[in-house]
Amino acid sequence: MRKLQKELEALREQGMLRTLKTVAGPQGPRVIVDGREVLLLCSNNYLGLAGHPALIEASCDATSRFGVGSGASRLVSGTMELHEQLEARIADFKGTEGALVFNSGYAANTGILQGLAGPGDLIFSDALNHASIIDGCRLSGARVVVYPHRDMAALEELLQAEASRRHGRWLIVSDGVFSMDGDLAPLPELVALKERYEALLMVDDAHGGGVLGASGRGSAERFGCLDRIDLHMGTLGKAFGCFGAYLAARREVIDTLINRSRSFIFSTSLPPGVLGAALAAFDIVDSAEGAARRAALENNRQIFVEGLRRGGLDLGESVTQIVPIVTGEPQPTMEAARRLLDRGIFLQGIRPPTVPVGQCRLRATLMADHRPEEVAAAAEMIVRILAELPR
Ligand SMILES: *Cc1c(COP(=O)(O)O)cnc(C)c1O
Repeated sequence: MRKLQKELEALREQGMLRTLKTVAGPQGPRVIVDGREVLLLCSNNYLGLAGHPALIEASCDATSRFGVGSGASRLVSGTMELHEQLEARIADFKGTEGALVFNSGYAANTGILQGLAGPGDLIFSDALNHASIIDGCRLSGARVVVYPHRDMAALEELLQAEASRRHGRWLIVSDGVFSMDGDLAPLPELVALKERYEALLMVDDAHGGGVLGASGRGSAERFGCLDRIDLHMGTLGKAFGCFGAYLAARREVIDTLINRSRSFIFSTSLPPGVLGAALAAFDIVDSAEGAARRAALENNRQIFVEGLRRGGLDLGESVTQIVPIVTGEPQPTMEAARRLLDRGIFLQGIRPPTVPVGQCRLRATLMADHRPEEVAAAAEMIVRILAELPR
């Protein structure tokens, strides 16, 4: 125990200690932190659905009709009508033969990659893919080739280099929207490569689903290649405001995962209240209200980004509601986050291993129900606080 304490102390001295911040009351564009109302700029509740009355009502209704817990894993007695309805809805949303719901995005990525790839197979993975993809690659036991972030020439070289000794299944996996950078995977190029080299393409659209594309189908809709992605992974805990995740794919892929995916097989299934709320979330995403929320989010993003750029800040390649403000080292990053919270703006400093060493950042995320004027004021405040910091 003494040793753990020393390790924690060392983390604190390096500005690397992670601690929890509690939000009092419900999630919304403004939340209560340390007894004060602050502007929430670090939630993935992009469309503001987590507190939406229609989702709350659907969740309560499903709970009162079907109970609180599902009581078992999916393959035992934990597959309820609502699981089936939600999976049909997701398959329809993505235009695939089938879909499978997982208990979280983390469980989905580890379970999909472990279920579809094994020793003898090869996974090509973007260098900035989410930690759950990295862990899924490890769990699979497949050989993993990491290609430089979004570098399609480098990926093609690696595919070519492996082609002569090819055996087993090939899988290319990428975030659709990169979670710490807000940039997009070059999906048309990835599709061309996966077709040329006969690999499966898996896109993790945790941050694109519900948000990107005219109808919110995600990054693939934005690029017009929805029907050319083999494995559409998405989450229900971000723009959809609920909890859980899914894979939409061909029927044989779904059936394979039902038979092999350990995170799917060995875990109690999602409860009725979550499933009911998720179905209501798809209704909203597909409605005129959903389109209006996407437009409001994009308007807020533009206002925020313009304010930060005017202040001379480096926002990398972000083109989405995830806006990284690169600050470099851990201590100044965390100090900036502390000062911003003092001024009523809640965002998180992001440090290694979540991002590469030397690339600490304030990661801001916009929401549809932020007011444009408060977003503009927050951008000004961020510019001011960063200018005050000792470099
Ligand atoms: C958040 C996230 C996940 C994990 O999803 P959870 O439902 O939160 O477990 C997976 N992939 C990406 C890219 C994410 O941002």
